[in-house]
Amino acid sequence: MATSISVESWLVSAGRDRQPGSPLNVPPVPSSNFVRGGQRAYTRNDGAPGWEALEEIVGGLEGGSSLAFASGMAGIAAIFDLLSVGSVVAIPDDCYQGVAGLAFAGQERGRWNVHRVGVTDTASWLKMCGQADLIWLESPSNPLLTVGDVDIICGAPRKPGAILCVDNTFATPLNQRPLILGADVSVQSVTKFIGGHSDLLSGVVSARDDSLLAALRQSRNLCGGTPGTLETFLAVRGARTLALRLNKSQETAITLAERLSVHPNVTLTRYPGLPSHPTQPAASRQLNGYGTIISFDVRGDAQTADKVCAGVRLIQHATSLGAVESTVERRACISGQEHLPPTLLRLSVGIESVDDIWADLDQALRNTSV
Ligand SMILES: *Cc1c(COP(=O)(O)O)cnc(C)c1O
Repeated sequence: MATSISVESWLVSAGRDRQPGSPLNVPPVPSSNFVRGGQRAYTRNDGAPGWEALEEIVGGLEGGSSLAFASGMAGIAAIFDLLSVGSVVAIPDDCYQGVAGLAFAGQERGRWNVHRVGVTDTASWLKMCGQADLIWLESPSNPLLTVGDVDIICGAPRKPGAILCVDNTFATPLNQRPLILGADVSVQSVTKFIGGHSDLLSGVVSARDDSLLAALRQSRNLCGGTPGTLETFLAVRGARTLALRLNKSQETAITLAERLSVHPNVTLTRYPGLPSHPTQPAASRQLNGYGTIISFDVRGDAQTADKVCAGVRLIQHATSLGAVESTVERRACISGQEHLPPTLLRLSVGIESVDDIWADLDQALRNTSV
């Protein structure tokens, strides 16, 4: 990204063809193949203009080059696909359940060995940097919103050939730039904030090293996790308003977190911007913003928490995050997340008015009070 331009302006202006007569928006090209003799022959091998627009936008934000995939998990699987048999993989103890699922499925098939490390256990991460072939960080973590010492771990020496990857989905490249901190790879589930409208699945993997990018491109080509034409068109459209949406949701999230933390029917509120949050200092050191996700524990039991989800009227009772609409769900009912507090609700704050979201949360919490 040109250093003279702000992130907001980059989001609006990048990934466009400025030739006279060109459409302002890169049109979706629904074609698997092209007439021989040109730059492209087959889309899985040669890409599509819409993918490249998305890659340019995200690559500039992350401070590297990007490859678009069919989903966040398709991009993540392409990274794991680079590992040789017998590799050592370190993943956080609180991380996206799909990443843990992929890591342990591969271990069961004898492909690699998985070590789990506490998100804030920096000493163990630094030790793993000298031993692991893939160091997988996620910060803020899902759903406990713990912020690790990403800057310190990314800057530490690692085993030659090792890949350090940060799942940057919760922070977005607006709040955190792992490649600048020294990570080899940064991953976005574009499904979440960049798409921003709960209407697509897509992922982007970013890196700076050319041979690593070539290997990831080969993996995308051979394993076939290529993005959809319409999905990348929608993702680019979503990216245009990312800064506006994130800033608005983030402002609302701070207010909601403060109010939730003193609500009589809430026993614990986790938000990296709250002074009471255990890793608030790390968050304020590393993040440009505290994000739009709040996890809070409802007073009562799992049933009470379920009632809150059933009782919301404006907020959607749905999974996923990072969209224009606020969503809430009880995380312990998700497969792979059973270890979480049974009353933990994860709220993704959308762009509705703060007072309307609060009124909805408050009525849902009060109507289920035990
Ligand atoms: C959703 C998500 C993923 C997976 O992305 P998909 O687009 O659903 O495949 C990975 N990491 C995090 C943190 C996520 O929230």
